[in-house]
Amino acid sequence: MCPACKEPLIVFELDGVEIDRCLRCSGTWLDSGEIYQLARMRDGLPDRLDAVISQAGDGRKGERRCVRCSAKMRVIRVNDVDIDRCPRGHGLWFDRSEMETLIASSRGSEGGAMVRFLGELRPAKDKKGG
Ligand SMILES: [Zn+2]
Ligand SMILES: [Zn+2]
Repeated sequence: MCPACKEPLIVFELDGVEIDRCLRCSGTWLDSGEIYQLARMRDGLPDRLDAVISQAGDGRKGERRCVRCSAKMRVIRVNDVDIDRCPRGHGLWFDRSEMETLIASSRGSEGGAMVRFLGELRPAKDKKGG
């Protein structure tokens, strides 16, 4: 369920990596490690992303809840983007375009390629089930 607007999340798949996305608010959930997988596959800089996210520290208290465990997430600031992170390490929540912004900023002027691939996302299956 979307932490922002409570809509069911839709699972997208990109090169074997599952990405949960809310179609209403365009927020995106990435399980722990998925952003690095994506960055690596798309010729990004996973180590650099890892470093900046680690440096962000514990962040401040947030209001949104983890998609996986419902714990209240912490808001961390990475490259001028606020990201919600599960305190138990399940993953990261990005508001609309935050992921694109972050990936682009981690890649400097070459961020365009990473941003473009996000436009390739297609639904893999509908999590609503029945
Ligand atoms: Zn939403
Ligand atoms: Zn969690």
